[in-house]
Amino acid sequence: MQGLKRTHYCGDVEGIGNEVVVGGYVQKVRDLGNLIFIDLRDRTGIVQLAFDDSTDREIFEKASDCHSEYVLMAKGVVRERESKNTAIKTGNIEIDVKDLRVLAKAQTPPFEIVDDTNVNEELRLKYRYLDLRRKVLQDNLIMRSKIAKVARDYYYENGFIEIETPMMIKSTPEGARDYLVPSRVHHGKFYALPQSPQMYKQLLMIAGFDRYIQLARCFRDEDLRADRQPEFTQIDLEMSFVDVEDILEMNEGFIQRLFKEVLDVDVELPLPRLTYKDAMERYGSDKPDTRFGMEICDISELVKNCGFGVFTSAIENGGSVRAIVAKDAAKSLTRKEIDKLTEYVKGIGAKGLAFVRWVDDEPTCAFAKFLGEGELDAILNKVGAQKGDVVLIVADKNKVTLPVLGALRLKVAKQLDIIPEGFNFLWITEFPFFEYDEDTDSWLAMHHPFTMPMDECIQYLDTDPGKVTAKAYDLVLNGTELSSGSIRITDYELQQKMFQALGLSDEEIEAKFGFLVEAYKYGAAPHGGMGIGLDRLAMIMTGNDSLRDVTAFPKVQNASELMSGAPNVVDEEQLQELSISIIPEKKEN
Ligand code: ASP
Repeated sequence: MQGLKRTHYCGDVEGIGNEVVVGGYVQKVRDLGNLIFIDLRDRTGIVQLAFDDSTDREIFEKASDCHSEYVLMAKGVVRERESKNTAIKTGNIEIDVKDLRVLAKAQTPPFEIVDDTNVNEELRLKYRYLDLRRKVLQDNLIMRSKIAKVARDYYYENGFIEIETPMMIKSTPEGARDYLVPSRVHHGKFYALPQSPQMYKQLLMIAGFDRYIQLARCFRDEDLRADRQPEFTQIDLEMSFVDVEDILEMNEGFIQRLFKEVLDVDVELPLPRLTYKDAMERYGSDKPDTRFGMEICDISELVKNCGFGVFTSAIENGGSVRAIVAKDAAKSLTRKEIDKLTEYVKGIGAKGLAFVRWVDDEPTCAFAKFLGEGELDAILNKVGAQKGDVVLIVADKNKVTLPVLGALRLKVAKQLDIIPEGFNFLWITEFPFFEYDEDTDSWLAMHHPFTMPMDECIQYLDTDPGKVTAKAYDLVLNGTELSSGSIRITDYELQQKMFQALGLSDEEIEAKFGFLVEAYKYGAAPHGGMGIGLDRLAMIMTGNDSLRDVTAFPKVQNASELMSGAPNVVDEEQLQELSISIIPEKKEN
């Protein structure tokens, strides 16, 4: 730094008459001939450097040679600025530069470092280190760091101990595909990268640590979406001598503290709760966005004897007829728009979409001719529709009506732009334990197989698995699943029963998690925990809708990282060491 030592960050410069030293990147140079202004930027903001007649000629020359993204250090005296800029914190002052060092020159960057950019994301990701110079991204990552800090503060204060668990492990049964790491020493064997530290944190409870926390990196080889990255961070925790209530209460405390400290937002406790069943019935989703209503209404009773075959046959086949109401939407949801929605619901499994569009005095309804006297009025009454509204109806098995209306509810709300800003938290409790898989005609665990069934359901394990619910809970924020967790099975015999119900053979149990099963034979306090998605939390708290905006070096859709080019081919030698040979890719014809 050629003899200068920074005294202030750019965004913090203040105090007219102060002598300051700042360091940063050149945002912009304005050369007016006998006057030069340089906007100098660091992660805290921008300050204006001023050079004029009174500036030493050598320094003035140096300033006139500066370009965007040059790295400078400047010493000078703070003075009031002539033309003030109210948009920035230091907009009333400037630094009358007395000494200037050019610490690094910079090539012209492939895109301008500005907040509002329409440069395509691929180019930005290729030069991510330049992209990350943009204030918006810096602010996101700074907020993410604050979230991590509050998490550590809160859980440490509540007696949690941070313990690292290994990255190279035996595969964990979380249900996604593993990323594998070949072993050089053990011919033909692989480690898996953890999908979460699930088994290890349970072992830490068995070991008596009582309360564990870790900001854990998790790896899942799944198809990527905006809210999914192959590697992500989870605020992972586990507690002993607890039941569901204790865990929810502890974590609500964190949420309240976090939102107050980071966003100065008051979150009222206790957070609302819905059972899985109610969430599905009312919102058609186990992660409903409850910032708006548009709840699903069951009209099966009203239409079960009507003359409309689509409705009656759905009910006769054990299904239902359900509706949502788009309030005041009759004008914007034209016939054409409703046709598009019909295509949409067909794309996600429904046979069609019935509707009532009430623009004029009389509602328009294609199936009205199949209804008896007063039946349409009864339907409109039941769903709470009025003139100006549109009623959208799906008739099918519940497995179709509920999720389809759930998805439609979201789509329509977005289209009508009726979702208010804000943070709506919701606990979803009492998840079903098993999921019936029609393809294999068997029951699969909806969570990992160590999840504890609700006490009153244990009796149905053998006889009626569909009735078994789990001591499992999710925390949902604005329709995004933020966190999931459960109470674990700590009873060796019950665990064996669960494995049997899941159709796992003794050999499979032994091979997959024999060590964990063994551990429970030595006594374990009741325990449970959860993992809170740090990335998703940061995404929502910073007001973004992609994890890439809160991940320093994210991967794109096909799981590659554009800057470094990972994944890449490795040397033949490395492969030989690992006894791996690459099978040529099958060509699609
Ligand atoms: N391991 C679980 C998950 O990753 C969280 C938990 O049950 O604690 O979703």
